[in-house]
Amino acid sequence: MYRKGLITMLQNCPTSVHELALRLGIGQKEVEDDLHHLIKSLRNMPYQAVIEPATCRKCGFVFQSDKLHKPGKCPQCKGSWISEPLISIEEKR
Ligand SMILES: [Zn+2]
Repeated sequence: MYRKGLITMLQNCPTSVHELALRLGIGQKEVEDDLHHLIKSLRNMPYQAVIEPATCRKCGFVFQSDKLHKPGKCPQCKGSWISEPLISIEEKR
């Protein structure tokens, strides 16, 4: 089960796992698990998840969007100045 409030929190409002964990007062791993459940459940709902992938702020490398947490290091330039992936939910068109 996922937290129902997540849909409301994320609707048209891109948020990182880190920020969600802070707002919900739970661990980031828990938030990630919730989000994975939520994304699966969305298949049967009039919503879709939009994931803005993490990017390296040094060289512009774009990470895979199936990863919800912030990567530690850039595989291209080895830099650690990386933006967090942002997750949002919007209505299916
Ligand atoms: Zn890089």
